[in-house]
Amino acid sequence: MDKREFLKGSAAAILMTTLKQSEGVAEGLGGQGEVPRTNWSGNYHYSTDKVFQPATVAEVQDAVRSVAGARALGTRHSFNGIADSSIAQISTLKLRDVVVDAKARTATVGAGIRYGDLAVILDKQGFALHNMASLPHISVGGACAPATHGSGMKNGNLATAVRAIEFVAAEGAVHTLSRDKDGEKFAGAVVGLGALGVVTHMTLDVQPRYDMTQVVYQDLAFNELEHHFAEIMGAGYSVSLFTDWQRGKAGEVWIKRRVDQGGAAAPAAEFFGARLATRKLHPIIDHNADACTDQMNIVGPWYERLPHFELKFTPSSGQELQTEFFVPFERGYEAVRAIETLRDSITPHLFITELRAVAADDLWLSMAYKRPSLAIHFTWKLETEAVMRVVPQIEAKLKPFGARPHWAKVFTMDAREIAPLYPRMKDFRAMVRGFDPTGKFENRYLREHVDAM
Ligand SMILES: Cc1cc2nc3c(=O)[nH]c(=O)nc-3n(C[C@H](O)[C@H](O)[C@H](O)COP(=O)(O)OP(=O)(O)OC[C@H]3O[C@@H](n4cnc5c(N)ncnc54)[C@H](O)[C@@H]3O)c2cc1C
Repeated sequence: MDKREFLKGSAAAILMTTLKQSEGVAEGLGGQGEVPRTNWSGNYHYSTDKVFQPATVAEVQDAVRSVAGARALGTRHSFNGIADSSIAQISTLKLRDVVVDAKARTATVGAGIRYGDLAVILDKQGFALHNMASLPHISVGGACAPATHGSGMKNGNLATAVRAIEFVAAEGAVHTLSRDKDGEKFAGAVVGLGALGVVTHMTLDVQPRYDMTQVVYQDLAFNELEHHFAEIMGAGYSVSLFTDWQRGKAGEVWIKRRVDQGGAAAPAAEFFGARLATRKLHPIIDHNADACTDQMNIVGPWYERLPHFELKFTPSSGQELQTEFFVPFERGYEAVRAIETLRDSITPHLFITELRAVAADDLWLSMAYKRPSLAIHFTWKLETEAVMRVVPQIEAKLKPFGARPHWAKVFTMDAREIAPLYPRMKDFRAMVRGFDPTGKFENRYLREHVDAM
């Protein structure tokens, strides 16, 4: 498939929108055209000062050709060295064009556009995405590369919406792969961890826009999860449980419902013994809830309900680390109870744990590959040393569940431990070698955790 074909669609239905240079770049470019030399949280310092900021695919090609090694960089929201390079980074944040094909129900977008900016453009044109992460601040390319996800028993991670990718590989040539034409190869490339090259455009599935509501219940006892786990996690289009390990409960249950699926109906006062919240709440109960999207069953657009946090505010805590493990959904309750045994080690360093369901998919390196999953997420205080002592304990507890770590968060498992968790890992490595025989996009993270070469 060539580039013209990639962008082709019903001419009449195509609407082209390009964000103004001044819009939406502050998060990634520091507003001054400078790309900060740490990740968003500040826990990771990148190893190079050389950062390209191409605005066109041709400029990405020039950048790739000009260096011996590089890594693509999105909005810097990863918590580990996945985006790092000792030679150069190629920021994608100036690649932000959007082409909506109404007839094909797709949007082809520059990989650097943030979900929050894309959502507004899509919504204005009557379209929506199937899901979003907890925050809208992240770039589409940077989110899909490590299989970023939201919640929902029937919702695959964000990369499952990708129908085609266009990327610049090691020798500087532009390649395209699509779900329809490239089957297996495509399934291997979408969650590519940046190892195949710099993704410049992605074609995403879109659907007619929809409205949603969000309600929060307080104090759901873990005991209720034992017999009603699927019912609870499936009680809305997207459900999140925020745990209180010391008291054996989910302190908050966030239920996001689609209005076209009955989501505007008044919520029950009780939910498996939990009570309906009477005010807006932050997942971290003592944090100000102003940063959160509207709750209290107020109807609003999909992109202002699916994420927990609003684009104009700092999401989550800001000073934090994150860790997340994916276990088979059917063993989710058991895994939660296993982690509970570590609560006295975990709680002193924790802001909050979040439990989310993610549908199975067929993307080779997705954490939910061929496995309906429970994602068990930890937002830690920025206490790196202490956190790095607890994380291996959690990994050991979750080993019997075949837990897969979130690629973009903090974990210690190495390539030897991770490879058996991914049946297509060998094929992935071979594909990377095919596109990048000299290891131009290899970095320390890939050597340690994927051994891509
Ligand atoms: C407050 C907060 C909340 C979060 N919530 C969630 C959540 O709800 N769910 C979840 O799953 N994760 C969540 N994350 C993690 C986050 O979604 C991931 O770290 C995601 O990768 C961030 O996207 P980014 O654009 O910042 O990517 P970066 O951190 O810049 O890059 C991540 C990886 O993608 C690669 N990459 C970036 N752009 C490209 C490209 N164009 N082509 C090829 N490779 C590319 C990089 O090389 C790197 O390997 C959260 C993070 C934060 C800070």
